[in-house]
Amino acid sequence: MMGAKIKALRAGMPAAMTRALHLVFPPRCIACSEAVGDDFGLCGPCWRETPFLTGLCCDQCGAPLPGEGTGDDRCDDCLTLPRPWGRGRAALAYDGTARRLVLALKHGDRLDLVPPMAGWLHRAAGPILEPGMLIAPIPLHRLRLLKRRYNQSALLSAKLATRAGVDHCPDLLQRIRATPSQDHRSRAERFANLDGSIRVAPRRTDLVQGRHVLLVDDVMTSCATFTAATRACLAAGAANVSVLSLARVAKDA
Ligand SMILES: [Zn+2]
Ligand SMILES: [Zn+2]
Repeated sequence: MMGAKIKALRAGMPAAMTRALHLVFPPRCIACSEAVGDDFGLCGPCWRETPFLTGLCCDQCGAPLPGEGTGDDRCDDCLTLPRPWGRGRAALAYDGTARRLVLALKHGDRLDLVPPMAGWLHRAAGPILEPGMLIAPIPLHRLRLLKRRYNQSALLSAKLATRAGVDHCPDLLQRIRATPSQDHRSRAERFANLDGSIRVAPRRTDLVQGRHVLLVDDVMTSCATFTAATRACLAAGAANVSVLSLARVAKDA
């Protein structure tokens, strides 16, 4: 926890003070706490063990694809089950070190992870970012938000929007009912469970008119959440929607 506080302090500090602080508290790897050269980074071994999705991927959901690009790079799932959004990317596979870090952000109060993760999101989003986009997080239901105190996706999307220099609206979307856990559900059940569960907040509908919205979530499991959120944006007047997740679960069977 101490490390997180120091990192939060460093964020708003002039370079000379940061250097002085480094002499006393050297920067640490965010995964294993080994000393590293810069703040907010992974050490070499942890970097190599973190499954970044940097190769060819599905242009619509970010799933890794084998082989060379063909122009219409979509996975079998996106070809069979049309997605309501345009393009999508994911920064990491939800596995190993990546999974551990995502869970540490979600349940472990590791807010020091937000800046490096926003950097990873920014890099993954490169091909789909457009000027004039409006970035918005996938919301938590208010009861879950009370329990957890923060929406990790909103922390990530805020930092990403700052880095990308585009507008951000943390409360664009609302969950209109709490959805039971998605664990152990089939794909059809996940979609049915989430259908109609998200809407654009009534006071925010003006904001989405004719805009290209980029939806950000920490973990993408089945596309069901992004589908419900995209439909809400389009129904409220958005011109187009793209999606971005920090980590993507390997595809459903
Ligand atoms: Zn490390
Ligand atoms: Zn796909």
